[in-house]
Amino acid sequence: MSVLIVGSTALDSIKTPKTENPRLLGGSASHAAVAASFFSPVNMVGVVGEDFPKEYLKLYRKHGIDLAGLQIKPGKTFHWSGEYELNMNNRRTLLTELGVFETFSPELPKAYQRTPFVLLANIAPALQHHVLDQSSGAKFVVADTMDLWLNIALGDLIKLLKRVDGFVLNDSEAQQLTKEDNVFNALKKIHQMGPKYVIIKQGSHGSILSGPKGLFICPAYPLKQVVDPTGAGDSFVGGMMGYLASARGSLDANLRRAMIHGSVVASFCCEGFGVNRTTKVKRADIAKRVKELEQLTRF
Ligand code: AMP
Repeated sequence: MSVLIVGSTALDSIKTPKTENPRLLGGSASHAAVAASFFSPVNMVGVVGEDFPKEYLKLYRKHGIDLAGLQIKPGKTFHWSGEYELNMNNRRTLLTELGVFETFSPELPKAYQRTPFVLLANIAPALQHHVLDQSSGAKFVVADTMDLWLNIALGDLIKLLKRVDGFVLNDSEAQQLTKEDNVFNALKKIHQMGPKYVIIKQGSHGSILSGPKGLFICPAYPLKQVVDPTGAGDSFVGGMMGYLASARGSLDANLRRAMIHGSVVASFCCEGFGVNRTTKVKRADIAKRVKELEQLTRF
């Protein structure tokens, strides 16, 4: 089955203590779509400007990502720039130039409206609502978010939580949303807001799922060197949704393995700038790390 992914499609300029890389392919939808494409067909909805490099369009196509929902508008592509501290965890935003993203309204081509798996990657909650208004055949809808929307669009986000099956956020966002320091109490409070499945991401410490079958602790793949963690969260949830769409059987039975696959794709994302490393990965590389994680966590 296919996955519909709606989010930002950006040019990212990323600075780390070691080096600087301008105008990489970035955005929540780009990272998630590349990750999902290892497992299932992907329909992507986003917007880019006329300055968007043709080679990036080629890269999407090389991954079999359907671009019928990608709008190309007069103006500049969304440009985001961030800088990492020495520990590669703390990041500050240096610049956000919205360009064509400012007036973005996601429109689903007719053929996308019945896509069974829907990932509302990080964009304004009002736009995530607009996607759901157009979707008629979704079996499983997951939303991602960021601190910005908790600060400026909390009302829309709270309403969205009543319309989705799953919600993915990181630990500091969960704390901000629930005013709970304890991750398990935060999970409980988020369930009360609507979603049946809640996943809290904890960066290099992995993630925790809470759902009808209880809790699952998903490890991160142990990396010795992180080059650029930008998009790791998007790769995680994209990989998870792609895997779910490809798997037979019940969702509850597949979710844990799906998270492990997402975690592995996210580990590759961290090993290069932008999507540079992820786009060179083969299915066999993913399978090898999944096996390693299996061995590392069995007892
Ligand atoms: P993450 O590392 O998971 O926080 O995701 C980083 C990605 O989010 C980058 O590729 C950015 O282009 C994208 N991004 C940054 N700010 C925004 C925003 N306001 N809305 C949507 N996407 C954004």
